[in-house]
Amino acid sequence: MIVFLTALLSLPAPAQSEQFTAAQPNKLAIVIDDMGYRPQEDAQILAMPKAVSVAIIPAAPYAAQRNRQAQQQGRDILIHMPMQSVSNMKIEEGGLSLGMSKQEVEQRLQQAEQIVSHAIGMNNHMGSAATADTPLMTHLMRVLHQRGLFFLDSRTIGKSVAAKIGRQEGVSVLERHVFLDDSDNFGDIQHQFQLALQHARKHGVAIVIGHPRKNTIAVLQAGLRHLPADIQLVGMGQLWRHEKITPPKPYILLFSDLPAPTSHAPFKYEPLLRGVPE
Ligand SMILES: [Zn+2]
Repeated sequence: MIVFLTALLSLPAPAQSEQFTAAQPNKLAIVIDDMGYRPQEDAQILAMPKAVSVAIIPAAPYAAQRNRQAQQQGRDILIHMPMQSVSNMKIEEGGLSLGMSKQEVEQRLQQAEQIVSHAIGMNNHMGSAATADTPLMTHLMRVLHQRGLFFLDSRTIGKSVAAKIGRQEGVSVLERHVFLDDSDNFGDIQHQFQLALQHARKHGVAIVIGHPRKNTIAVLQAGLRHLPADIQLVGMGQLWRHEKITPPKPYILLFSDLPAPTSHAPFKYEPLLRGVPE
């Protein structure tokens, strides 16, 4: 028995890195745009795992209701802001168009936040002209910064300046990697879903945008039920917060054990502080 125990104890300790640092799962974030119009499809989306995020068009008839429902579920909500496209298609009430002043942009955002009141971020509905326009994006990023919202660039155009201007203005800008349903064909959507998994494996993360439509819902229901073990479904908030928690300055002040010059003796020693005056 003793021999056996000794043998056990003398086994080399497993290398920590192998034992405890399981490979980071590849993250898959799914955002469903254009929420607020179709009661049946919206309900099917809200029946999906709560890590599926929703983007609600403020002017949509059921926008306020979806905002409430998603919030009750603890689901991440984005304002799906209509923005001017290159083809200048008519956009919903309350959208952003070229030539707007910062005040106008601010007003539109205020209106949107009154309806989609639990939003943690915003993404663009259309917006191929708007996201390529430096003055409009500068106004938008400043307003988003003030309101503590992140921006998800749907990337409806390659020339988007959103990420660049977001960086300048201190706004987190995330970008869509895969559109699920540019084509409404079931096989095409399935193909896009597989592409998203490949993207997540290759880059560690894939941000996917889809719409509340019959075939998209069918593909997602099946795909999420059989999600491979190396893929983790995450909400947009989780991705964004992860980006946000990097502290801008190191916590040197907190962890130094030297008394602060302002701490007059005698002071009590506190392990994580610099001394608390008595
Ligand atoms: Zn949209």
